[in-house]
Amino acid sequence: MKLNRFVILSLVDICMAQRWKLDRGCDHWGAANKEKLKVAFREAVTMAGTALDVLNKNPGDQKVQKMVKHIFGDDEKLVKEAKEILGGVKKYDDQPNPYFDAPFWRNTDLIVYCDPSNYEEHPDKSTHKLFNLDLPKGSPHKKQHDVCFAANPQRDGNLVMAITLRSEGVDRKKYNAAIDEWKKKGSKGTAPDERAYIVSREDIPNTMDLCTWYLRDVFNTNAGFVTVDDASIAKVQQKSFLDTIPKAERAVDQLVQSLAGTFLHELTHTYLGGRTFDYSYGWVNSGKHHPRNNADSMAQLGVAMHLFKKGYWVDDDGNVKKIQK
Ligand SMILES: [Zn+2]
Repeated sequence: MKLNRFVILSLVDICMAQRWKLDRGCDHWGAANKEKLKVAFREAVTMAGTALDVLNKNPGDQKVQKMVKHIFGDDEKLVKEAKEILGGVKKYDDQPNPYFDAPFWRNTDLIVYCDPSNYEEHPDKSTHKLFNLDLPKGSPHKKQHDVCFAANPQRDGNLVMAITLRSEGVDRKKYNAAIDEWKKKGSKGTAPDERAYIVSREDIPNTMDLCTWYLRDVFNTNAGFVTVDDASIAKVQQKSFLDTIPKAERAVDQLVQSLAGTFLHELTHTYLGGRTFDYSYGWVNSGKHHPRNNADSMAQLGVAMHLFKKGYWVDDDGNVKKIQK
C-alpha cells in the first residue's frame, strides 16, 4: 500500500515537473557561462524554497519580522500572497530540460533566451515580432527590447536586465472594442485596463529574455554577481564597493540584481510563478510603498530570507549586516 502510493506519487511528480530550458542562443556565451546560468537558476528556485522555510520556521524572529515588514508593511495578506508566489517558483525543475519543443509546449513551460533570437525586427520597422506577439511601433515592449539588446545601453539607472512574457495573451479584439467604446463616450475616467482582458493560452510557453548587455556585465567584466554567495555578500559590505554603486541603489539591491536574484524576479512573472507585475524596484521603494503583487518585492524577500539563513539581515537602508549572536 505504502509502496503503491509512493510509486503513484512519483509518477505524478514526474508528470508535474515544471520544465524550462536554455535556448540554443545561450551556447554563444560558452560552456562555463552556460553553467553559471544553470547555477543561478538553481539558486533562484532554491531561494524561493529557503524563503518559505525561513518564514514558516521563524515567524517570531525579530530580524525576519523587521525585513518582512519593510517589504510588505503591516498587511498580512501581502505576505500570504508572497508565500504563494514563491511556492509557484519552487515548482520549477532545478535542471533545464532541453527535450521539449513546439508543438508540445505547455503554458507552464519556460524558455530562457540569451540573445535577440526571440525578437525579430521587421524591415519596415513598423512592427517587431517578439515570440508570437506583434509589437506595434511605439510599444513599450519594443523600447524595452531595443535597450535590452543594445551594445552600449545608456546607463541612466533604468536599465532593462531581463524581460519575461507570460504564456497568457491579451484578447486584442475585446480590448480594442472596449477602448473604442470608452472613446465614444468621451474618454472619461480611466481607460479600460489591458489586464482585464488577459486570456489563457494552453500551448504557449513563457519566455524570458536575458539582456545581452547584462549578461556581458555578469560574465565578462564582473560588474555583477552570479549568485548570492559568501564572496558577493562580503563585497556588498565594503565601503569601497558601495561607493561605486548608483546613488539610488543599496547594498542589498546589488544582490537582488545578481543573476540568481534576477532569475527569481523574472520567475515570479511567469504563469506558474504567480504572474506578478512591475510596480516598483529596489529596497528603498519597497519601504515606502509596500507594493502588492510586485516582482521585485518577491526577489527582495527571497534574497533577504536567504541572507537570514546565512546569518545576515538587511536594515531599512538596505545595508547587509551580520546578525550578532
Ligand atoms: Zn519585472
